[in-house]
Amino acid sequence: MQRMRPDRKSIAVIILVIALGGLGFIQYRMLGAYYSLSRAKMDQQISMTLAETGDENYDRTLLSNLISAIITEDTLAFPVSLDSLRNAGTQFYRMYLTDRFARANLPTSFEFAITDQITRETYLATENYSSGIQWVGNYKLPLAGVIQRDCGCAPFLNVRFSRMEAVLFRGIEPVLVPAIACFLLLIVGFYLLLRILREQKYLDRVKTDFINNLTHELKTPVFSISLATRIMREKNDGSMNKYLDRVEKDIDQLKGNVEKVLELASIENRKNLLDAEKLNARDFLEEWKSEQDNEGMIQLVEWESDLPENAFIKADAAHLRNALNNLLDNAFKYGGEEQKVKVISRVENDEVLFSVTDKGPGIDKSEHEAIFGKFYRVQNGHAAARGYGLGLSYVRQVIKMMNGTVAVTSAPHEGSTFMIKLPCLK
Ligand code: ADP
Repeated sequence: MQRMRPDRKSIAVIILVIALGGLGFIQYRMLGAYYSLSRAKMDQQISMTLAETGDENYDRTLLSNLISAIITEDTLAFPVSLDSLRNAGTQFYRMYLTDRFARANLPTSFEFAITDQITRETYLATENYSSGIQWVGNYKLPLAGVIQRDCGCAPFLNVRFSRMEAVLFRGIEPVLVPAIACFLLLIVGFYLLLRILREQKYLDRVKTDFINNLTHELKTPVFSISLATRIMREKNDGSMNKYLDRVEKDIDQLKGNVEKVLELASIENRKNLLDAEKLNARDFLEEWKSEQDNEGMIQLVEWESDLPENAFIKADAAHLRNALNNLLDNAFKYGGEEQKVKVISRVENDEVLFSVTDKGPGIDKSEHEAIFGKFYRVQNGHAAARGYGLGLSYVRQVIKMMNGTVAVTSAPHEGSTFMIKLPCLK
């Protein structure tokens, strides 16, 4: 169990990193699409606003007269020099366009020129129109109506924008800000999760170390007490038997539990790698059966073996026996009044199956995974049965190391079946 957790954690972290990356990428692409959309909308608005200015000056206005005079170089209507006229026309046109763009919430950092579409002649241009600035938008408007008629040419208004980001940003702001905020929140959450995982890992290690140390500390007194009990029994005239029996029983149980913890710890630390060998499943089962020392208990077991002669498994016989003993012990421990336990062994889908079934109180489905965890005990029911919640954790651990699986099928009031499956050797 212990060794599986870091793997699961790493997988969870990898999945989260991929999901975060994916989310970031999707957000980036969506913002890109939203930006393009805003840009297209703005292009359309600029063209529309320009068209409106064209309409406004289709007939004679002060502006259309001024532009006509500049194009035709007619200084009669405005008695000033041509240069001054151009200057005034440029300023006037700029103010006029700035006003119209501002009213439509459009960018106002633009340059413009009036040119002839056919001859390419420039009639009028702002100072920076021909500079090497990086333009982000170019728009054209034919100056139809009065201006065109007066000059008999093909005048065009060309407008170039150097900066549009501020206005575009205003357009995507309602989406951009929450998107970035949510993404940052996700990253912060992810970071906190990583910290929690790291702390949990540390606590896990501290817990395991503590338990191992404590168990080692317990081993010596347990040994001295059982030795002392044996000596007392030898010297005793029979009057103390009742008490000595009790002490021996308890000390045996304590010894068993200490062994269990130590065994689990050594497996987790992989100090004690399994001694897996090729075993004949049927011979193994017979041996295990004959080893059962509690004859009375074994009488209550119904054995159903369907193993063929040539079914082989790769397993550590001692650990497999321990695992099966654990299942059998539990079946009796939790089996309830009606101590009816059935052990089935057979080959199924190229696997050797050992199952232990009892008619006990059963286990709710929501607990099926948890009972294989270390120190987990079902809360409600079988409080009378003593234990530390280590048996099934041990079973899963060793069976996994033999490339096998453990599973449970059970429901409240319907008994439980624990199954060990080990792959058949070819
Ligand atoms: P322990 O028996 O020492 O508590 P286990 O790891 O063997 O630890 O079992 C974990 C828990 O699973 C038990 O506390 C018990 O609640 C439940 N359990 C195990 N086997 C059975 C069973 N055959 N019937 C009902 N409950 C069971």
